[in-house]
Amino acid sequence: MERERRKAKLLKGSAWWKNCLGRGVCAYCGKRVHPTALTMDHKIPIVRGGTSSRSNCVPACAECNQNKQNLPAEVWRTLLAQR
Ligand SMILES: [Zn+2]
Repeated sequence: MERERRKAKLLKGSAWWKNCLGRGVCAYCGKRVHPTALTMDHKIPIVRGGTSSRSNCVPACAECNQNKQNLPAEVWRTLLAQR
């Protein structure tokens, strides 16, 4: 788990991630937010065995990141849709 957290830190410094943030859109709710307000979210949380790979990391707004917590992305999307 520590290893994946370290990898996430590295990924945050990558050009790929900066490009993701630059779009300024939350991957879950689709809200437009300022790139500095986006946070890295693991679709499959590290505590659930997710990895810090490009395919598992998406930009999320603070609200989604806070409310999603350790839910898998699919579960969070379903909850969002029911609101
Ligand atoms: Zn959001």
